[in-house]
Amino acid sequence: MSGIKGMQVIICFGFDLQCTLYIIMTLQKPKGTQDILPQETAKWQYVEDFARKIFKKYHYGEIRTPMFEHYEVISRSVGDTTDIVTKEMYDFYDKGDRHVTLRPEGTAPVVRSYVENKLFAPEVQKPVKVFYIGSMFRYERPQAGRLREFHQLGVECFGSSNPATDAETIAMAYQLFNELGIKDVVLHLNSLGNTESRKAYRQALIDYLLPMKDKLSKDSQRRLEENPLRVLDSKEKEDKAAVEGAPSILDYLDEKSQAHFDAVRDMLEALSIPYVIDTNMVRGLDYYHHTIFEFVTKVDNSELTICAGGRYDSLVEYFGGPATAGFGFGLGLERLLLVLDKQNIALPLDESLDVYIAVLDNSVNSKALELIQAIRHQGFTAERDYLNRKIKAQFKAADSFKAKTIITLGENEVEANQAVVKNNTTRQEVLADFDDIRSNFASILEELC
Ligand code: ATP
Ligand code: MG
Repeated sequence: MSGIKGMQVIICFGFDLQCTLYIIMTLQKPKGTQDILPQETAKWQYVEDFARKIFKKYHYGEIRTPMFEHYEVISRSVGDTTDIVTKEMYDFYDKGDRHVTLRPEGTAPVVRSYVENKLFAPEVQKPVKVFYIGSMFRYERPQAGRLREFHQLGVECFGSSNPATDAETIAMAYQLFNELGIKDVVLHLNSLGNTESRKAYRQALIDYLLPMKDKLSKDSQRRLEENPLRVLDSKEKEDKAAVEGAPSILDYLDEKSQAHFDAVRDMLEALSIPYVIDTNMVRGLDYYHHTIFEFVTKVDNSELTICAGGRYDSLVEYFGGPATAGFGFGLGLERLLLVLDKQNIALPLDESLDVYIAVLDNSVNSKALELIQAIRHQGFTAERDYLNRKIKAQFKAADSFKAKTIITLGENEVEANQAVVKNNTTRQEVLADFDDIRSNFASILEELC
């Protein structure tokens, strides 16, 4: 009997423990996601604003598309056999039994939107240049720079098959890295040629890989049947060894594809943008033709791609639009921030506060509110004490908020309609009328800072 009782206790305890663990886990953020807290967001905003300014110089406008799409928008355009579609989609059936997916990347949704909104119409100036900033979702094994919800900055340019578009879009990403101060990013460049070139190469690659099929990883054995080009950018050791002597896609480019690639290379050289030709880089998505590229950097001795893209000249047609050239890239924001961090690049963030109002007594609460609002309405950043704390604690708060000036407000000040404004670094002071604080705080600040 006692044995049975003991077992019951263990079972109950086990069940409770499991329940508790389950509740604790489900009350935490999902695996592979992150909370970005205000101190961190300041960096995100800086980088996003920086990118927005650069994109504007190249005449890109912002596009915002839904966070989820019909499954088909992604599946066939990105490629039924790609890792993204076969393994990484966050797809589900909604309450109306529609098969939808959180977007795993930005290009297919933007092309869908381009066609749906008829941006191909003759009255819309070409090329159409758009950029996006937002969350993407992929069910992956989380690690540094690899999350399940991550953020991309991306651009798409529609309606130009001019190689100058390839070169200037790559140059735009290059400018972003350079001006942020990032070092050691290497541009990897390749061409997949047009459909015919790609087809000819596909066969040559199958002929080369088939005799060594058994030596390939399981995934690549499958890829060999479904999409042999992707064996080339497999990260598995055995695949890397197998493709070392593989034929180069550049030997299969037809005349037109070769001319396009040569022009892109010449233009990059004319802009003094260094690159390496990487014939084993084929990109994981099916929609690319001609130029493809990645910006790669080293983090803790392993290579990390921060930005990747290329030309996709048949995607608009796939979505039912007219034949339209396309070129774009996606840039991982988490990876960009990781690299900035690893390279010790301090972003010039302005986290200071123009003024902090220390409140000496609860009786001046309303006056403090009136003054701080008047200061804010003049365009300054301001914070105050709300908690009736000791003056020392309030000064400490002002320091930690990096307040440039402090106003100390008590009954005497309110009676006199005047307060001392003090520079929190030099300790220099001015006595200011409330009227001046309310209407001309700029000149007070100018005198002190
Ligand atoms: P990888 O080979 O590293 O898996 P990918 O080829 O799947 O990258 P793309 O689809 O080209 O990546 O996406 C463009 C960029 O988005 C990448 O270069 C990277 O900076 C970023 N990115 C892609 N997947 C993730 C992820 N799971 N977490 C964070 N960033 C990502
Ligand atoms: Mg991937």
